[in-house]
Amino acid sequence: MTIVDATTTPPCASEPADYHDEQLHSPPARANITAAEWERLSAKRAAVHRQCAGCPLMIDCLYRAVVEVDVSGYAACTTEFDRQQIRHRLGIVIQQPSAVPFGAARVGGGPVSHEAVMTMRHAYPKDTCHQLADRLDCSTSTVKRHLRRAREQKHDESLLPRESIASRPSVDAVLDCFDELESSRVA
Ligand code: SF4
Repeated sequence: MTIVDATTTPPCASEPADYHDEQLHSPPARANITAAEWERLSAKRAAVHRQCAGCPLMIDCLYRAVVEVDVSGYAACTTEFDRQQIRHRLGIVIQQPSAVPFGAARVGGGPVSHEAVMTMRHAYPKDTCHQLADRLDCSTSTVKRHLRRAREQKHDESLLPRESIASRPSVDAVLDCFDELESSRVA
């Protein structure tokens, strides 16, 4: 797995609304919108794509969004359909879908997601739980609960039988499938 620069906040944490834009993560058919709308959408998609492409979490984010969590929204230069295509190629079935894009910060007054807490932890590894809670606008106990859950998941993974771990695709295999997508060439 790729080691990321943990001191950088990913663009999706700063501008989460762009990554929730339904027209980006589930694009309409070209024939169903006007030329002007298509042009605007293409420009917006290219801008978000560039942000993901330049994000230090990109490879880690792509791998997790394809292999570990079925996130909604645009993530790691891919739409939901793109990620389904990669899973289909690799024979992956995700068990627990998530309603929040990986890496996205909390939006509105809803509950803070596990992914948002972990992204903030990656971005600010030296923060206390209290500081992370301030950044996420949630309680310290919520942050502690999600960090404890992450520790427990890591522990559970360490107990997986060897064959389960071996059945996970490599990062290179995921990247190879990604490179074949039209989305990987958006500029
Ligand atoms: S969606 Fe993933 S790759 Fe894109 S900016 Fe967020 S963390 Fe980075």
